[in-house]
Amino acid sequence: MALNPPHWTDCRKELADRLGTVPRLLVATDFDGTLAPICARPEDVRLPAEAHTALTALAAHPGVRVAVLSGRNLADLIRRTDLPRAVHAGNHGLEIQGGGMDYVQPQALAARPVLDAAILFLREALQGLPGIFIEDKGLTLSMHYRLAEPANLSHVETAAMACAARFSTLKRHCGKMVVEFRPDVPWDKGYALKRLLKGLGLPAAAALYMGDDTTDEDAFAALNGLGTSFHVGQDPQTRARFRMHDTYDTAEFLQWLRKLRVG
Ligand SMILES: [Mg+2]
Repeated sequence: MALNPPHWTDCRKELADRLGTVPRLLVATDFDGTLAPICARPEDVRLPAEAHTALTALAAHPGVRVAVLSGRNLADLIRRTDLPRAVHAGNHGLEIQGGGMDYVQPQALAARPVLDAAILFLREALQGLPGIFIEDKGLTLSMHYRLAEPANLSHVETAAMACAARFSTLKRHCGKMVVEFRPDVPWDKGYALKRLLKGLGLPAAAALYMGDDTTDEDAFAALNGLGTSFHVGQDPQTRARFRMHDTYDTAEFLQWLRKLRVG
């Protein structure tokens, strides 16, 4: 694992060499915390205009594909990005649409009854606790606790552990102020990115990926040192090759990339 990767603006020459010359470039990115600033409630998150404009121009260019990979469900992601020419991968890529792909991971689909039971279980376990809510994402569930009172955080932990013990066919993942349960299928953003590359007929060297969270590390790893990866945030422990500070910084990078690729 790399330590403290350099900031992208310190490597413009290298990045221009890597990203400017590939005949077809895949611009793949996470959404929350990478393109769009995180809000206390996920439904309040919006794609900033600067990022939207740059991504729209990139997606319209024949030499570029844009893909957004998110933990959000597919319908929510499509609505929120408003990028009709992009490929969208929801639920960490368990569902993919666009670029000739229309995919739902079959084992995840089959696990829906277990997910229903887990949602019911968690809603009962946490009812009455303010600032904690369970989001049904179709193929996965998220337990959000960003607005929880600190005194209630132990309830979150207890409920999450009880849920994991009771529904052993679901896998627990911890993100930023969110605990997620997903069907226990060999799938993550790394698999999703590889599937995207295969579906689009592109090598890993033709891809860049930007992400801010632990789930994005799988996508950084999937590029195997061949593609170009960016960690958004200050965490020094990342597999990514380059760093961006925050969502304003990613928007600046996308504007720079647009000039490089589209003009
Ligand atoms: Mg994120």
